[in-house]
Amino acid sequence: MLKTLGAVLAALKKGRATVNYPFESVEAPKDYRGKVEYDFTKCIGCGTCKFVCGGKAIKIDEYKDHFDYILWDAACTRCGMCVEFCPTGALTMTENLHNAISGEDIIKRIFYSNIPYERCEICKKYIKPLPGVVYQEVLKGNNDAFKENSHICPDCRRKLQAGKLFKDMNNLAYK
Ligand code: SF4
Ligand code: SF4
Repeated sequence: MLKTLGAVLAALKKGRATVNYPFESVEAPKDYRGKVEYDFTKCIGCGTCKFVCGGKAIKIDEYKDHFDYILWDAACTRCGMCVEFCPTGALTMTENLHNAISGEDIIKRIFYSNIPYERCEICKKYIKPLPGVVYQEVLKGNNDAFKENSHICPDCRRKLQAGKLFKDMNNLAYK
């Protein structure tokens, strides 16, 4: 009896061990895998995230002049694979742990982005946009190459490069 009373008194002295969430704020532990955030300005629409997503939370619908990027947060298992494999850093994992919502609102937990294609400066074909921030990263600040290539489709880029190579070889042959 005395032992039990002692334990009760010790517990009372220590205070409540749980947090009265959501009425009290809770800090996420470091590196907690919370909600995934998507930055459309860095997305090249490669589809890698969709391919690696085990929860089937990501959908990319391609159309003639744009693509739709859809991330259904309610289906996300917080595995972090999409963040790991996204080549441009368009996806990040936050430490946001406030995910509880009512059943009716589950359908609203969809992130949707409509990303328009641009037209190739030479042939006018629709092409997926190549965000400047991504291109600069690849070219390490080579701005001439960025201006020359960033708004041109792969076919025209190949033809341009082949033309330049041919010209250089001709110049060498006549030296
Ligand atoms: S992996 Fe990254 S760049 Fe590729 S479609 Fe997904 S978010 Fe966009
Ligand atoms: S964290 Fe995992 S489940 Fe969630 S969207 Fe990314 S790959 Fe899919």
